[in-house]
Amino acid sequence: MKHIFAFSIFVLFLSCSNPPQSQFPNLIFVNGNFFTADSLRPQATAIAIAGDRILAVGNDAEIKKLAGKETQIVDLQGAFAMPGFIEGHGHFNGLGESLQNLNLINTKSWAEITGLVAEKAKSAKPGEWIEGRGWHQEKWSESSGATVNGYPYNTELSAISPNNPVILYHASGHGLIANSKAIELAGISSETSDPMGGRIVRDARGKITGVFEENAMGLIEKPFYTWKNLRSEAEQIAAFEKSTQLAAAECLAKGISSFQDAGSNFWELAQYRRLAEADQLPLRLWVMASQPTAHDIPKLADFPQVGLGNQHFTCRAVKCYFDGALGSYGAWLLAPYDDKPGFVGQNTTPLDTITRMAQACHQYGLQLCVHAIGDRANREVLNVVEKELGAKNEQRWRIEHSQHIDPQDIPRFAQLGVVASMQAIHCTSDAPFVVKRLGTERARTGAYAWRSVLDSGAHLANGTDAPVEDVDPLPCLYASVTRKRADTGLEFFPEQKMTREEALLSYTIWNAWAAFEEKEKGSLTPGKLADIVVLSKDLLRCAPEEILQAKVLKTVVGGKVKYERK
Ligand SMILES: [Zn+2]
Repeated sequence: MKHIFAFSIFVLFLSCSNPPQSQFPNLIFVNGNFFTADSLRPQATAIAIAGDRILAVGNDAEIKKLAGKETQIVDLQGAFAMPGFIEGHGHFNGLGESLQNLNLINTKSWAEITGLVAEKAKSAKPGEWIEGRGWHQEKWSESSGATVNGYPYNTELSAISPNNPVILYHASGHGLIANSKAIELAGISSETSDPMGGRIVRDARGKITGVFEENAMGLIEKPFYTWKNLRSEAEQIAAFEKSTQLAAAECLAKGISSFQDAGSNFWELAQYRRLAEADQLPLRLWVMASQPTAHDIPKLADFPQVGLGNQHFTCRAVKCYFDGALGSYGAWLLAPYDDKPGFVGQNTTPLDTITRMAQACHQYGLQLCVHAIGDRANREVLNVVEKELGAKNEQRWRIEHSQHIDPQDIPRFAQLGVVASMQAIHCTSDAPFVVKRLGTERARTGAYAWRSVLDSGAHLANGTDAPVEDVDPLPCLYASVTRKRADTGLEFFPEQKMTREEALLSYTIWNAWAAFEEKEKGSLTPGKLADIVVLSKDLLRCAPEEILQAKVLKTVVGGKVKYERK
């Protein structure tokens, strides 16, 4: 706020006299095709930047006049430019780790996956865990042999890696498959019972298949984390920093200048803060603290932490998980799954715990962000918000995913001031199995229903949930405006499309709003941070398919070019 005030005095000063050389813009972009996301001046061809902020937005002649002797002038040669993308919901460290472990996102069969694991097992050290992520049984083009609920058995995984434990996370992050070595280390047998909100998948004879859903994943993660924690503090910090730099480079190459992380623990929060304050975070992070244990709730008194490291680190929110994912039958539904009669999904955190977190967030002035996929989970969160804050509150609490909403509950988002934090790319990614799980009527009226949510007057946020999906905003924007799969062309209830402009706003100013950051970023407006992406296609006017072909030419964060296409 102080910045903006000082800045407006400076702009005033600039307009009535010749400023000293140091206050001239250091960078000017001209000959651009800017979409500013600022309704007061939606289009422009030039922009002047002083330090890390936008000094002025206008046409080439107006802006060139501001240049001093040392101002660098860059000709964008007519390229399209807009505010840097803000990823509205992803997992930053998870993204960094996914870039180092087996990435199974694009695998097309179980055989392909076991082949990758076999390759990795050859060079694994004794006792080393083999970790992977991104498989999805609904996306395989060939049979994986005998299955239970569509999942394969772990027989092959156990055979190819008898000595190294294997843990392969489902694309949703809400399930995993482990080999027999991992299961042995976890001390699990066919007698082990399912934990609350989780399921050890067994076949008709009670045999464990190797798949663990929702809270049952913790059984396998226990020895996995014990192994990870054997590393010294210095090794853990080095690994974390490596993940951070890999994730940052990946984001910058895809035009992302700000990233909203959907859940980091207190240790990770401290690392991000330290890196930001040491000027070692190449982009801006807005992080939700992972739901603390009852014992750790008082630690929230150290928050909110806003705009630290020169606007590179903020934590002013808490993330809770209320249910699982649709693909792994974890979404908590009001009525049973169509393809799993009698089963309504998983409530992964008790209601009274969520209520306690809501009270803590209210007390400490933090945003509550609750993962809710199923219509039952969404309804329960809306009830919690209503009880704690009442209607028309301005706390901007969020429902992460807001994926399947009973039509009766759609207007409640606007009524309660709850942000629907949706991930458009999940819609087209999941499209092949949604109707199977929910039936046509539920899918048509309440699945990924962002048009209905917007029309009801609610605030929307958009993102990819990376590494669940590729962090690339372009396929997500394509999904937002077409609801069509890029590969097969399968269209999912197109009446729920966003307009082109809405999609661009959803990835900029709307995401900024959902984080209380709309005064700092999200549009190209004088006084705001100079975060800009330059692209090879006009995302506002190109043919829909061209969105997928667009290339990021430059990513600018705080007036510095952090990525440039060779
Ligand atoms: Zn997530």
